[in-house]
Amino acid sequence: MTDSPDQRIARLLHHRKAGLRQGDPVVPPITASATFHLPHVQAGGHFYGRNGTPTWDAVEAQLAILEDAETVSFPSGMAAIAAALFATLKAGDRLVIPSDGYYVTRVLSEGFLKPLGVTVSPLPTRDYATADFTGVAVVYLETPSNPGLDVVDIAAVAARARAAGAVVIADNTTMTPLLQRPLYLGCDLVVAADTKAPAGHSDVLFGHVAGRDAALMARVRDWRRMAGAIPGPFEAFLVHRGLETLELRLSRMCASAQVIAERLAAHPAVTGLRFPGLPGDASYAVARRQMVNGGFLISFELADAAAAEGFLSRCPLIAQTTSFGGTHTAGERRARWGDAVAEGFVRLSVGIEPVEVLWEAMAAALEG
Ligand SMILES: *Cc1c(COP(=O)(O)O)cnc(C)c1O
Repeated sequence: MTDSPDQRIARLLHHRKAGLRQGDPVVPPITASATFHLPHVQAGGHFYGRNGTPTWDAVEAQLAILEDAETVSFPSGMAAIAAALFATLKAGDRLVIPSDGYYVTRVLSEGFLKPLGVTVSPLPTRDYATADFTGVAVVYLETPSNPGLDVVDIAAVAARARAAGAVVIADNTTMTPLLQRPLYLGCDLVVAADTKAPAGHSDVLFGHVAGRDAALMARVRDWRRMAGAIPGPFEAFLVHRGLETLELRLSRMCASAQVIAERLAAHPAVTGLRFPGLPGDASYAVARRQMVNGGFLISFELADAAAAEGFLSRCPLIAQTTSFGGTHTAGERRARWGDAVAEGFVRLSVGIEPVEVLWEAMAAALEG
């Protein structure tokens, strides 16, 4: 049995205590050293910066507490995703990935795995529920998907995929390990962009892979060491600091998102709103089973591109950026990247602003 979320958060905050000696710093130092004192090769400990550093150890200890699993850190979400895919696929294999998920995962698969002999089969998130996974080596899912916010029933899909002999990888970026636990729902590996809510301050890129299969995780670790996709100590330090307040920030962000989603859904200028925490949402029933709450991302449509751009630029409390999960509410029109969405489709990441002030600003910007 696992710790309760509250116990995990408390352990995360105090994870260094047991290892501290008199006079040691409470906060992990930024250890900027490529080499480590190595008079004897066999004696253990750190020896070279591509294999491991004390600052990674600190952030990986936090992430391992959150995931309840071995965790390997990476310099970005995509570095983590690349590691998971290259560690599990070989020529002749078939990979199923979401056609409506994070687009760089798809571009990486088509651009680099396909030429090496992997068959890449993009599948809309809503079709995972009924797909036949016979002959598939890796089923890669993302839920709620970014940016459409469709939800996969992780336990049901993982059970069918594993029965077909596939390895199941879940991109848990939009939820974080505090809101959704794919490893407990049958997935073999979790990948995530800690660039988003875990680091949380829009000042660093980071990622991780977590899993309980020691052989798979050894492959992931080998990939990092051999491909050289290693996080820097300063980045690891920033993520360590961000993770200490993850639960606090998420509580505010998710509670505010619930309020904002309800009010946006009732607004006459808004159509097609998706938020898995709303009882009317197509994903609500599955979301209630596997997610702690509806999260902090909302998607919706305004009349057209001009209406969406006007709303985003008029609202003083929406940062016009890509990415999500930061302290600032952020929004963008996804069609500008070529996502298969309507011209007026907006993805909103709700931040930590007090909710009534945020809604007042949004409501005014909607009026034009
Ligand atoms: C942002 C994101 C990534 C990539 O993370 P980076 O840190 O930008 O490389 C992967 N998956 C999802 C769902 C994301 O939102």
